[in-house]
Amino acid sequence: MADWYSWVGKVLDVDLTSEKITKIPSDRYFPNFLGGRGLEAKVIWDDVPEGTKALDPENRLIFAPSSLTGTNSPMNGRWNIGALAPSHPDEYPSSSAIGGHWGAELKFAGYDGVIVHGKASRPVYLLIRDEEVEIRSASNYWGLDAIEGQKKLAADIAAERSFPDMAEKPEAGRYNPINIRTVMIGPAGENSSRIACIMHDSGDSAGQGGFGGVMGSKNLKAISVRGSGAVKAKDPQRMMEVIYKIRRMIRHEARVVIPPFGGPGGLYGGDPSLLTGYVKRADGCFGCQVGCRGFFDVPGSPPGQAQCVQLQMYNNWEGVGPVAPPHPDFSNRQQDETTWYGIRLADELGINAYELTGILSWLWACWKEKIFGSTQAEFEENTGISNIEDMGSKEFADNLFGMIANREGEFGNLLADGLYRAAKQLKEKFGNRVWELYEERYVASGSRQHWFYIGTARGPADPTGYANPIGQLMWAIGSRDPYSNCSFTREPYAKPDIAKSIYGNEESANPFTYDGKAQAASIAYTRGCMNDSIGFCDWFFPILTVEPFFKEEGEEEEGRHLGDLTVEAQVFSAATGIEKTIDQLMEDSYRVVNLERAIMVRMGRRRENDTFSNFFFNNPDRRGNPVDRVAWEKVKDDFYSYMGWDPKTGIPTRARLESLDLKDVADTLGV
Ligand code: SF4
Repeated sequence: MADWYSWVGKVLDVDLTSEKITKIPSDRYFPNFLGGRGLEAKVIWDDVPEGTKALDPENRLIFAPSSLTGTNSPMNGRWNIGALAPSHPDEYPSSSAIGGHWGAELKFAGYDGVIVHGKASRPVYLLIRDEEVEIRSASNYWGLDAIEGQKKLAADIAAERSFPDMAEKPEAGRYNPINIRTVMIGPAGENSSRIACIMHDSGDSAGQGGFGGVMGSKNLKAISVRGSGAVKAKDPQRMMEVIYKIRRMIRHEARVVIPPFGGPGGLYGGDPSLLTGYVKRADGCFGCQVGCRGFFDVPGSPPGQAQCVQLQMYNNWEGVGPVAPPHPDFSNRQQDETTWYGIRLADELGINAYELTGILSWLWACWKEKIFGSTQAEFEENTGISNIEDMGSKEFADNLFGMIANREGEFGNLLADGLYRAAKQLKEKFGNRVWELYEERYVASGSRQHWFYIGTARGPADPTGYANPIGQLMWAIGSRDPYSNCSFTREPYAKPDIAKSIYGNEESANPFTYDGKAQAASIAYTRGCMNDSIGFCDWFFPILTVEPFFKEEGEEEEGRHLGDLTVEAQVFSAATGIEKTIDQLMEDSYRVVNLERAIMVRMGRRRENDTFSNFFFNNPDRRGNPVDRVAWEKVKDDFYSYMGWDPKTGIPTRARLESLDLKDVADTLGV
């Protein structure tokens, strides 16, 4: 492409072993693979040699803004990081969404992505300032926590006063180098923990996947970026018109999304009374008109930004859901300064808070069942964790999180590899109950469960207490927590008109049957990938319904009505100059999910691997029924057919791959 609109024209390839930096023309990847998850899939398929493990130098760590990141498209600030995932039991590729401003800043610097591979001979960081890209020693930052480290790095760079274009720019606003945007790992990542996250600013992180561990395995502490360019839209006038329409629709929805509640659903049953009092302001990603996160300033710990799961992380370990009501043992617990202390500590050490909700819950269950000892002394002897009854104190957080981040002791070392691997090993010594308690909390892919209130079933989420069949299929087929990018799948429950509008059938509104679910799951799975590839936050997209909040003059809308499922395509077309219908964009997303599937097939994934924890087949849901294995296998047949995959094997068919311009992939797979 001679002129780039919405994309900016180059992707950085950084080989840390040879310290060679290459600027690849973006037309190797775009428009065909869109951006975000599409870029990740294309790079992993093309460049990661077969047999590579997640923590090997040859794994690619891809920092992937989406097609629309950096434009004025609504909520384009969420972007993705992907690689072969060390947290996954089979190290399949995965992707983690991260908010904030880094992705947009990278595009202002002139890059549509950064691909990192190899391993540096000493700790380094990458500094990107427009055309100038340097690999620098990180000896002054290695060992620092992931938040203070970012501040020190920005201050040091600002003190150099060597920005190439500063002479022509005002020394303020985002041109001030103190506002450089950084992603950084903490000690957990430095120690290649499989549950380490990559932090950005004071609370944004790529948590799921363990990509902080991949960064640490490459001796890469941070990537700082500052750009002085812009992201152009092909048709700015049309862009503004569509954006105005979208903004009105979101305003019409009148969702109460305010910072004290962190995220679209609020605190989900936690008691927000104390932390709410410490909210200082709203906090949002680049280009977001909502700003769904709170910025907290709580006595005794540094201030920072947080969302719902973080706020629950050190307050609640009910047993199964990360955002469930407090365990009866802790029902009098209030969110307080200690809650915030735990949140901050996890972020500083760079441990995935979502995984910590599982570890804390599992540890407490093991303690209640006396698995590691019937006294605190025995528990400590077997685990190295002292004063288990003090779970919830600052001292306990220091002890446990420190053990994990620094791989201290046998137990700390095990937990640093994630609960899947830890429980698998520990069951040999302590019996299968260790594993059952793990399975209850982790659905599939080594991922912390997100379908709330399993079994004991309290609260308003999935009506059976288990994921509805659409969610079951997405958990089983993917390599990540699907509810982290497909939260919209709950909206059509009991609303046949909404179900029909997005899934093409009314039956999928019934969460108690498999009718219509294969079609629905194939669409939801692919639509989630579209959000992750072109850059729409799934908190608000797709816009399924609009409920007028107030009428403007001349408007006659009354009551709830269906939203507009095509707005993503309208924005994409205006921004890129490439005219696409929503069906064409979905077909591009099918290209991405099929390439992701092909990578996993190449790594050995087959139909029999597409499942979730046995716990859900063996234990009744809220209505007294476990998942029915016969019905489950039948709905899988139908799902594969909708995806164009062979129902016998789960491998994409040649016909489907060729229809997506992936003939080379079909040839490689030998289908
Ligand atoms: S709704 Fe929240 S997570 Fe989504 S883009 Fe806005 S601030 Fe970021």
